[in-house]
Amino acid sequence: MEVYEGKAKRVIPFDNGKAIMEFKDDATAFDGKKRARFRGKGWLNAQISAHLFRVLEENGVKTHFIGIAGDNRLIVERLKMYPLEIVVRNVVAGSLKKRLPLEDGTELSEPIVELYYKDDGLGDPMINHYHAKVLGVSEDELREMERIALRVNEVLRKYFAKRGIILVDFKLEFGKNERGEIVLGDEISPDTCRFWDAKTGESLDKDVFRFNKGDLISTYERLYKRLTGETPSHR
Ligand code: ADP
Ligand code: UDP
Repeated sequence: MEVYEGKAKRVIPFDNGKAIMEFKDDATAFDGKKRARFRGKGWLNAQISAHLFRVLEENGVKTHFIGIAGDNRLIVERLKMYPLEIVVRNVVAGSLKKRLPLEDGTELSEPIVELYYKDDGLGDPMINHYHAKVLGVSEDELREMERIALRVNEVLRKYFAKRGIILVDFKLEFGKNERGEIVLGDEISPDTCRFWDAKTGESLDKDVFRFNKGDLISTYERLYKRLTGETPSHR
């Protein structure tokens, strides 16, 4: 099994069904057209992901998270990933404005689940169940991923609300483990979610980088502190 180097992470497989997932300091946006490095981002995203995976496990959601391997690294169950991104939305933001005649910040009457095909060459197009089936993903698998995604939304939305943060939208990736179970993989971090401060509306996520709204590291540090109650200890 080979090491996989992606835009934000490196996945180093072991032969015991596990892998190390290493979070890099690189940031990309707009299909990789905007790039930068932020010292400490890898640590912050690894720790925030670990924290949120624990919250989900405590609430009965099966994830690939096994433990923290120091600094920017998590130990995870190795999965055969589906080439899909599952996006869940509670509030209008980002690309939803291109699809519905609703203004930024409008709360949705119920969550929206969207499917995207993970393919940089095609620019990660939005797809439906018919497209996914042609790609080899069955209706049962799609329904299971959507069910888990909505459960993740229920758990995290409440968790963030208690901390004065609105969970606007987020992206998940799933894979299959050796026993054939569908498991939540990848990361849940400010790189892959939109979080707004409930009082001020301020972004506590990668939108600060996308739209030059502030300093990425101090924003992610504030989020880390609000979630864990601890002062971040990255170098
Ligand atoms: P990208 O491929 O979009 O550049 P990353 O830099 O985030 O993304 O790379 C992480 C890669 O690891 C992704 O392709 C993701 O699907 C994959 N992945 C996530 N969780 C696991 C896992 N548990 N086992 C194997 N691969 C995983
Ligand atoms: N997202 C992601 N990776 C992607 C595309 C989207 O993590 O390749 C996340 C993004 O951070 C946001 C949500 O999915 O929390 C919805 O993103 P949207 O479709 O609005 O696209 P964007 O405007 O972020 O490109």
